[in-house]
Amino acid sequence: MHDQTDRFDVVVIGAGLAGTSLAGCLARDGRRVALIDTHATHPRDFRAEKYGSAQMALFERLGFGAAARACTTMTEEVRVVRFGRLAQWERSTEYGAGYPDLINALRAALPAGLLTVGRVADLDLGPDTQAVTLSDGRRFEGRLTVLATGLGDILRRRAGVSRQVLGQQHSLAIGFDMAAPRAAFPFPALTYFSERFGGQDAYVTLFPLGDTMRANLFCYRQPNEPWTRAFRADPEAALRALMPGLARHCPTLAIAGPVEVRPIDLARARGHVRDGLVLVGDAFQTACPVPGTGIGKVLNDVERLAGVHLPGWLATPGMGADKIARYYADPVKRACDAASLRASLYARALATQAGLPWAARRARNRAARHAIRYAADAARGATRAAAALAALLAV
Ligand SMILES: Cc1cc2nc3c(=O)[nH]c(=O)nc-3n(C[C@H](O)[C@H](O)[C@H](O)COP(=O)(O)OP(=O)(O)OC[C@H]3O[C@@H](n4cnc5c(N)ncnc54)[C@H](O)[C@@H]3O)c2cc1C
Repeated sequence: MHDQTDRFDVVVIGAGLAGTSLAGCLARDGRRVALIDTHATHPRDFRAEKYGSAQMALFERLGFGAAARACTTMTEEVRVVRFGRLAQWERSTEYGAGYPDLINALRAALPAGLLTVGRVADLDLGPDTQAVTLSDGRRFEGRLTVLATGLGDILRRRAGVSRQVLGQQHSLAIGFDMAAPRAAFPFPALTYFSERFGGQDAYVTLFPLGDTMRANLFCYRQPNEPWTRAFRADPEAALRALMPGLARHCPTLAIAGPVEVRPIDLARARGHVRDGLVLVGDAFQTACPVPGTGIGKVLNDVERLAGVHLPGWLATPGMGADKIARYYADPVKRACDAASLRASLYARALATQAGLPWAARRARNRAARHAIRYAADAARGATRAAAALAALLAV
């Protein structure tokens, strides 16, 4: 356990995805790091539950590949259904894990004793030394404080950082378990897009978490509107009404629950260039789950801060706002954050806009998908033909 006599290079507040992976990287680099979170074990919470190969590659690069792999259920094919009828098998590797299971697995990979359990109540920031005070009076000092507190607002405001809302209740994420076990479904994973455009719905995705078939439904509705209340009351009936063609692809639609509903705001920090303080992950900018850019964005923050900026900052005296500003101006970080925001806004418009320009974009995307599939099929055919020719020549 740490006490006030300890002096750290970095004090990280919040041990979710951003804080845990950052603290792990810094500890591996030999930095003196404190990680503080209110919970010893991450509690049940509905957050990101699925990610792809690009995000797994980031986990690997940050040294958490084995921990992430051990708690995930991998699938290599997903059945994609568009317009209720167009179906295709897409070869893509996906990893499913309950968010608390993922975070607890990452925390278990940290050096023993790194995590301190407590609620941070106050910050005292300056150009050289930072002090972090817990609600029980414990105090931590460090050269840099990192705020990785996710959606929590209190500490950010205490640090004088405000929040610019870019999309109030931008989308709604609904998570639930299917009643039938994974083995009852005729696909490893399914993504079923809304049958009509110009409405309020994006897609439902079914994927395995161990032996359970999990579902995430993403839409652009409000948490308290009658539709959402009806979904909570009878999710199977609401799902059948929303996507009448789903039953043709998914033989069993009974839902075990519980139904977890989370409204998603798109927001970004404002006034964040401060002496001695860096914001990472959702504390800096949130992501909409529809395009699935949240995990990649969080891990990109960690990779840029730990790998590119912090080594230089710690090698020279002071931790003033001029140093901190370089992290927020990092072109790789800026591009990643901008791409996440753009994808969130584009996905919403593509699903909900009924006008001609958006219909044209949907038609263009559909044609591009067909072209890519056709090229991939042709390439596979050419490979098979070349292999047959080689076999003939070898005789
Ligand atoms: C419903 C939902 C579904 C999502 N689905 C996807 C998806 O499919 N794909 C995707 O890529 N992204 C998805 N996301 C986004 C992704 O989950 C987040 O971007 C990511 O979890 C943010 O991680 P973080 O570490 O920044 O925050 P968090 O994981 O929220 O961590 C914050 C931590 O700070 C701690 N904390 C807060 N205040 C204090 C304090 N005062 N003292 C000490 N500790 C404190 C908390 O206990 C918590 O552990 C989804 C998000 C939501 C809400």
